Amino acid sequence: MTPREAAASVVDPEIRVITIDELGILRAVEEDPATGRVVVTITPTYTGCPAMDVIRADIRRALAAAGHPDADVRTVYSPAWTTDWISETGRAKLTAAGIAPPAPTRAGKVVPLTLAVRCPRCGSPETEEVSRFGSTACKALWRCRSCSEPFDHVKAL
Ligand SMILES: [Zn+2]
Repeated sequence: MTPREAAASVVDPEIRVITIDELGILRAVEEDPATGRVVVTITPTYTGCPAMDVIRADIRRALAAAGHPDADVRTVYSPAWTTDWISETGRAKLTAAGIAPPAPTRAGKVVPLTLAVRCPRCGSPETEEVSRFGSTACKALWRCRSCSEPFDHVKAL
C-alpha cells in the first residue's frame, strides 16, 4: 500500500461511509526523497469541525500501519474547502447511506436548497428542512413529504 492509498483509506469520523479522499479534504501526500518521511496535507471542512483532530490521528495511524510511523500531517486553509470538492463517488455513497449530498454551488453561490435537496430514499424533491442541525453540526435534518422519512442533508458550503 502506497502512502497515498493509506491516507486515502481514512474515513470521515462523522460520515463513516465516505473517505477523506472522496470528501475532497485530502490535498496531497508527498514523500521526502531524502528522509523518506511522508507529509500529508489536508484542508478542514466546516470551520471548527472537531472531527479534524480525529482525522489527523487516523491518518497517522493508517500511515504507521503502512510502514511510515513518522508521518507529518499539515493543514492548509487556502483555497478553502467547499462541498463541491466531494467526488461523484462520495456523493453516490452519501445517497446510498440515506444522506442527501450537498447541492452543487455555482461561482461560490449556493443553489437554493429547497430546489436542490432530493429525498435520498425515494428521490422526491418534495422535502423540507426540520432542523438546521442534524446529528452533527455539518448536517441538517430534513424530511421527505412524499415518503415521510427524515434524513440527514450535508449542508452546501
Ligand atoms: Zn422520500
